[in-house]
Amino acid sequence: MRAFVPNYELTTPPSLAEALSLLEREPGVWKPFAGGTDLMVLLEAGKLPHRNYVNIWDLSELRGIEVTDTHITLGALTTYTEVQAHPILQSEFPMLCQAASETGGLAIQNRGTLGGNIVNASPAADSPPALLAYDAEIELVSSDGSRWLPYRGFHTGYKQMRIGPNELLARIRMSRNTGGATHYYRKVGTRKAQAISKVCLAALAKVEQDQISEVRIALGSVAPVVVRCVQTEDVLRGQKPDAETIKSACATLSHEISPIDDIRSTADYRLRVGKNLLTDFLLMLRA
Ligand SMILES: Cc1cc2nc3c(=O)[nH]c(=O)nc-3n(C[C@H](O)[C@H](O)[C@H](O)COP(=O)(O)OP(=O)(O)OC[C@H]3O[C@@H](n4cnc5c(N)ncnc54)[C@H](O)[C@@H]3O)c2cc1C
Repeated sequence: MRAFVPNYELTTPPSLAEALSLLEREPGVWKPFAGGTDLMVLLEAGKLPHRNYVNIWDLSELRGIEVTDTHITLGALTTYTEVQAHPILQSEFPMLCQAASETGGLAIQNRGTLGGNIVNASPAADSPPALLAYDAEIELVSSDGSRWLPYRGFHTGYKQMRIGPNELLARIRMSRNTGGATHYYRKVGTRKAQAISKVCLAALAKVEQDQISEVRIALGSVAPVVVRCVQTEDVLRGQKPDAETIKSACATLSHEISPIDDIRSTADYRLRVGKNLLTDFLLMLRA
């Protein structure tokens, strides 16, 4: 352990209201600590810059999965194991379950949370492409109350996002409108487990009378934030998924993403794989 642990403080408030009041009283001083699977890596490496943490793991207000006729709502502390075990998520939101099953290994899946994955804001995170393709909404809470916003647009730049220092991510909500859709999720990494994505694509589409009537496509690891590819979607909507459409969609995708060379891969490889995954998804619609 390269960090000097006594330099750090971790407090465990007994309720959400008390956690929020602490964040309100000293904005920016306290940061949330959920499963700790991202934070503990930094601590171990001696690179955890922040000193004061508020442990939210025991806050029951941020747990649970609620299902209504129209929506499914997940507490921010929902773990990957809980995602995979939920029957409605399995049947109606399979991309999120697949993302959960390909995140880390079992220990990470038992402890890592969806809320932590979102706020950690890695462009290579695995759940965000699925959440973007499902048009998820998120709830932020503070002592002043709660606000819901579309998850799309939450990340504004590398590790930048629309959350105040006094706010916690409380819930994630998705509309139960996926009936009749084709779902496609593919994470390309070095191994099947414990590997960070080189490219990840999540896409959902409905085809009516041979034409794509609805389509949502999101990619991870190809830009400073996980991206929803709206221009590529525009090219596809109303078209047959034929060879010509696939060609135009791949050309548009090339302009819509901005992959880089880094320790895990190259820009060229990521672009090529992004287009291959899009093609694979569109061929699946044709089949
Ligand atoms: C070995 C290993 C393998 C991994 N593999 C993958 C992988 O394959 N794919 C992948 O996407 N990730 C992976 N991760 C990263 C990590 O497990 C996930 O990002 C996880 O979801 C983080 O959740 P957490 O609850 O542990 O977050 P924490 O570490 O507790 O927090 C992460 C960040 O989010 C903030 N935060 C947490 N919850 C909230 C909240 N409710 N409101 C506001 N802010 C909050 C914290 O302040 C912190 O900045 C891996 C990590 C490890 C150590």
